[in-house]
Amino acid sequence: MTRIPSPAPNGRRLMAVELEIDLFCQGLRVDSNCQLERDARSYVKARAGLGSGLELVIPGKRDIWMNAPVHEHFTANSPYVLRLDERGYHVLHEPSGTEYAVRIPPAPAWYERKASTGTPMREIGVLQGTYLGFYLGKACAFWNSDPRENCRFCATGLNVGAPGGDKPMKTVEEVVETAKAARAESGVSFVHFNTGYQTGAGLDLCAPFVKAIKEQAGALVGVQAAPTKELHKYDWIVECGADHLSFCYELHNPAYFERYLPGKHKHLGQDAFFKAMEYASRLMGKGRVSGEIIAGIEPIEDTLRGIDYITSVGAFPTVCIFRPVIGTDMEHAESPRYEDMRVVFQHVYESCMKNGVPIGLAPNIEVSLVVQPTDAEELAPPSWRKTLYQAKLRLMRAAVGAIFEAQLKPRRIKADAEKPPQPSLTSGRRG
Ligand code: SF4
Repeated sequence: MTRIPSPAPNGRRLMAVELEIDLFCQGLRVDSNCQLERDARSYVKARAGLGSGLELVIPGKRDIWMNAPVHEHFTANSPYVLRLDERGYHVLHEPSGTEYAVRIPPAPAWYERKASTGTPMREIGVLQGTYLGFYLGKACAFWNSDPRENCRFCATGLNVGAPGGDKPMKTVEEVVETAKAARAESGVSFVHFNTGYQTGAGLDLCAPFVKAIKEQAGALVGVQAAPTKELHKYDWIVECGADHLSFCYELHNPAYFERYLPGKHKHLGQDAFFKAMEYASRLMGKGRVSGEIIAGIEPIEDTLRGIDYITSVGAFPTVCIFRPVIGTDMEHAESPRYEDMRVVFQHVYESCMKNGVPIGLAPNIEVSLVVQPTDAEELAPPSWRKTLYQAKLRLMRAAVGAIFEAQLKPRRIKADAEKPPQPSLTSGRRG
């Protein structure tokens, strides 16, 4: 594997995506002159299992949104410090004196409002980059089993139901109200539902929310639930309005999957993720489904194999850089190395390119918890294949613009979201 030296010591000015990767790996210290209580979105939530940091935007060839680690132990030794002066916020690489201007997205006004149920909207939905994320249902069942079977890196159980954290068992009504506020005031175009493990009922739980968002708020909708063997339910959730499905299998190496994901190993198995992702990708078409993995826990060669597998089935890889979040079972583990992560994200882009997986077509979806395939474009060296791929993506973007515009308007959904269809009628349609 090619080793690329960490950019930090030689003081070379980094491309935005390189800075993003290095900040994920080394974290960010916050200078005492910063006024983040005034200027930033709340940055204390241990949301989404791997996110607990500071949302910021790195301007570059394209703006890159990221959630920079600021709380974890490893961040204390970071060479990067966030400063505020009369020019605004910037990240200083102290050893070299190199500065990078950044923007700190402010908290939206609706965070402080209450839904009609009385719950503060900030406890219902959260902005992660430019999209709106909702956790649905009870806290993930792996956190409540005895002994606990939670994924070792995960912080969801520390947040859902905790004081000031995510409200469990949200109602459709309050979710729709929050989504409407975020659509109108924050320009959100993508709503994402995540359920953790709901003992097999993840898609049933999400369906009424998906339908309500499509009918009342009008947004693109993504769903991430534990995989089901009842494959006909993927047809159903798409009929209810899901535009995107993601499958979070985390680790490609089966031995690491078993060791770090005890609940997923015991109750689901890695193969269930593969079968469901392959089915959903055939059902929805190339680039509509994603496979989510974490880089920095298993050997990098396994991560690269995982990326190739995901793109080979027509899905796109969503790769998180492992973050040892405080309070999790892995809080004292080492953060990954920049050199390895750079290789991973160059591979993400090249693997999408090789398999013709379309990326970056949907409007205004910037995901702060991961380095997106589109972020990684600059890591791939110029080649005729890259030129062709980029030209094709430009054409596709122009062609699907009107389709996305129509999908962002509220529309009637015929499917019954309260009642999944009988398996005998539709099961295996794409199998
Ligand atoms: S399935 Fe794993 S990563 Fe997801 S919420 Fe449960 S414990 Fe966390």
